[in-house]
Amino acid sequence: MEGEYIIQLTMRQTHILEIIQSLGPITGNQIAEKLNLSRAALRSDLAILTMSKLIGAKPKVGYYFIGQDLQKLKTMSFDTILVGDAHSLPIVVKENSSVYDAIVTLFIEDVGTIFVVSEGNFLEGAISRKDLLKAAMGGKNNNELPVSIIMTRMPKIILTTPEESVLSAAQKLLYHQVDALPVVKAVKEGENTKFQVVGRFTKTNIARLFVQLAES
Ligand code: ADP
Repeated sequence: MEGEYIIQLTMRQTHILEIIQSLGPITGNQIAEKLNLSRAALRSDLAILTMSKLIGAKPKVGYYFIGQDLQKLKTMSFDTILVGDAHSLPIVVKENSSVYDAIVTLFIEDVGTIFVVSEGNFLEGAISRKDLLKAAMGGKNNNELPVSIIMTRMPKIILTTPEESVLSAAQKLLYHQVDALPVVKAVKEGENTKFQVVGRFTKTNIARLFVQLAES
């Protein structure tokens, strides 16, 4: 949205930044002239922009733009960033894998949720940490027990796609009280739609984005 910044610039700071981006290097006096303001009135705005490393100042040269691409800054917020820009690699096991193998995968890959796929990487189910803990406490032979017995299966799996907004996917995580969503691409097969797993969207992805946005 025009004029909306995640780093909360005022309208005037935004305007100054735009002037510097398009005309810089430019002196404080020239900026003041363009805005019909006194040089003194701009001092604090220029200081804020310099401190936040969006602009730099060189004596005798003037102010120049060093911030991220302005267009990108304007649009960086949770409802405009897409899952496709934020997700992690999917960690999957095959349906006939054992519960034991899934537990090993959980440790080796350092993830909380594993997705279960059939040939061609099509989503069949999901297994969480607690699903595996429950199975491990069940006392059965985990080497023999296939994950398909304990997984939550399709069509009960809550999905996301690379095109969905991060905000909407985060709402799904909270609403459905799960830690991870498979990122999928729909593939039509006659009447049926199957879902190829292309990623994993987790609470960690949201925390990372939150920090990136806060620090930008
Ligand atoms: P945990 O069980 O370790 O607390 P979750 O809260 O993610 O982890 O999982 C809760 C339950 O939901 C588990 O039984 C799991 O199989 C299932 N589950 C995990 N991810 C999804 C998902 N994306 N959609 C539907 N169910 C899921």
